[in-house]
Amino acid sequence: MSMRPNVYAGGMIDRAATQRRDGAWLAARLSDPGSRLVPLWRSQNLVEGEGKAVQALRPSVGEAPWLARLLADGPAPMFLGLVEGQAHFAIDLSAEEDPVALLGLSQTRQFIDLRRVGALLPQHDGALLAYARGLAHWHVTHRFCGRCGAPAVSREGGHMRLCSQESCATEHFPRTDPAVIVLVTAGRLCLLGRQARWPSGMYSTLAGFVEPGESLEEAVAREVMEEAGVPVVRLRYHSSQPWPFPGQLMLGFTAEADQAIEPQVDSHELESAAWFSPEDLAGFKEQGRFLPDRQSIARRLIEDWLTSCEVKEG
Ligand SMILES: [Zn+2]
Repeated sequence: MSMRPNVYAGGMIDRAATQRRDGAWLAARLSDPGSRLVPLWRSQNLVEGEGKAVQALRPSVGEAPWLARLLADGPAPMFLGLVEGQAHFAIDLSAEEDPVALLGLSQTRQFIDLRRVGALLPQHDGALLAYARGLAHWHVTHRFCGRCGAPAVSREGGHMRLCSQESCATEHFPRTDPAVIVLVTAGRLCLLGRQARWPSGMYSTLAGFVEPGESLEEAVAREVMEEAGVPVVRLRYHSSQPWPFPGQLMLGFTAEADQAIEPQVDSHELESAAWFSPEDLAGFKEQGRFLPDRQSIARRLIEDWLTSCEVKEG
């Protein structure tokens, strides 16, 4: 199995978790003209380039005369970390009606849904933009203290929100929701399913959220049993992937079933599920079927399994 990181992982960023608690240090980074900004607008990320030559656009503080106004009355910038010693701050421009005019963007520089370009971006850029998007989403959805309802304010460069009610003062930390995703195999067959809401013809691995009081192994076994009625054995961890749509951490596994028993689909979760051989998958296109796109860990699990089948069969 190759150890190449999944899309949205593998960023070359030092999160500087100790320094980011220091307000004076952060303020100095934010006024350094060489520091970089990672703008977001209504859940979209800023990129430049066309076709496959797309990359993250990160204007410097020195190139952002509009920053002072935003700092005065906009949401607090989020310190992402240091990249080759340069501070990077995510900044949410969602309150702006026209970010294109604000930033002076051209046709090849645009805000875009990260999912549309994730597989095309350089590894580091994808990780940086996913990080910014995930953190910004958490701030937007956690403006108030979940304990007492008072406004919560950003602290530690956006890595904590503190309840403003003195008697409460609860500290809230960015959340990421663990979800397991698993490719179940039985010999030369793999189990794929489809949800009714997916694009017609798409089949993928089984997945679901980890519940309180549950280990990852238990979550995998439960999801496969609930969705397809197949008992699994021999679980193996594969790799993980930040998935900021909006805030999951995907934990990828492979698992084996002793037999390719007929799946019993739970219609709340899946529309259908079936076992497929490598030859079946090779014929998908002709049947109007397809696999999830290349940025997903689901596709990675399937591709790695196909490779292992080829290796075994020489
Ligand atoms: Zn509170």
